[in-house]
Amino acid sequence: MSEIQNIDCLIIGSGPAGYTAAIYAARADMSPVLYQGMQPGGQLTTTNDVENFPGYPDGINGPEMMAQLQAQAERFDTDVRPGFIDKVDFSGPIHKAWDDSGKEIHAKTVIISTGASALYLGLESEQKYLKMGGGVSACAVCDGFFYRNQEVVIVGAGDSACEEAHYLSKLASKVTMLVRRDEFRASKIMEERVRNTPNIDILFNTETEEVLGDDHGVTGVRVKNNQTNETHDIPATGFFVAIGHKPNTDIFKDYLKLDETGYIEYEEPGTTKTNVPGVFVAGDAADKTYRQAVTAAGTGAMAALDAERYLSALNG
Ligand code: NDP
Repeated sequence: MSEIQNIDCLIIGSGPAGYTAAIYAARADMSPVLYQGMQPGGQLTTTNDVENFPGYPDGINGPEMMAQLQAQAERFDTDVRPGFIDKVDFSGPIHKAWDDSGKEIHAKTVIISTGASALYLGLESEQKYLKMGGGVSACAVCDGFFYRNQEVVIVGAGDSACEEAHYLSKLASKVTMLVRRDEFRASKIMEERVRNTPNIDILFNTETEEVLGDDHGVTGVRVKNNQTNETHDIPATGFFVAIGHKPNTDIFKDYLKLDETGYIEYEEPGTTKTNVPGVFVAGDAADKTYRQAVTAAGTGAMAALDAERYLSALNG
């Protein structure tokens, strides 16, 4: 059996929240150990240009930005590890965690920054253009700017889809919204907003058959009316998917308070405390509203400060 490692601060996840928490915790001499998780760098590694993170006037490529955040965390001696934490036990005063190689870690404080994953339809053509960085996106606020005066398609009928369609309508010349049923899931006010926006065209009972494109990226979307089975092609250079997110919180569900969709609940508003003393949460694992790199980084800093105060009180 491998030796147990005792540490002051364990950070789980390597998006902007995790790395920012690491920078703060390392500079506060907490010698953080950070596990990068299944998708090192987090959701930003699936984005091309990040133009809304302050401090990069010319924008920055998502993976490059995450590499820089990692380098900044390592500069202050964060122990950044590939691999992931696949089990925790938060029942006692010392928080236990096991990594994917079976190594057991005992941490006085834990910062959870496991993020959320955008859901996609799963079509082969959708994944192809997503990976190519050629016109498929799950974040209108991140990528809408690139489609100014162009035609785009968005899938989904919840509050996110409505909010994103409305956001896109101010940039794109036309937004076609694909709703798979004959009604919205979104709140009435959000639904009314999209219905009253002249350049949003709503197609009910409509599903995506295929994302069309060429070597440069998306050129259109083939859709099918699920009542008549008729198909037709919609010209578009952008294909946005807004069918929900899944927070990566499954391993914590026996110990932490989660809301009905799996987001971790803050115990005390204005802090990053969870219901377990010494366990803090930052970024999208607890945020279904803002979901921005900069807000995740902000809560990452808060979580490290909260953890430091907790540790100081613990150590007397
Ligand atoms: P939701 O789960 O509310 O909605 C997902 C939507 O995607 C549904 O309309 C669903 O269709 C559709 N969908 C799911 N799978 C597919 C598929 N394979 N093909 C086509 N359509 C699909 O997710 P949201 O992200 O919109 O919202 C999550 C939570 O966050 C909600 O509680 C929401 O209210 C909240 N929120 C609030 C906001 C605000 O108040 N400003 C903004 C954004 C989110 P169907 O309806 O047929 O199931």
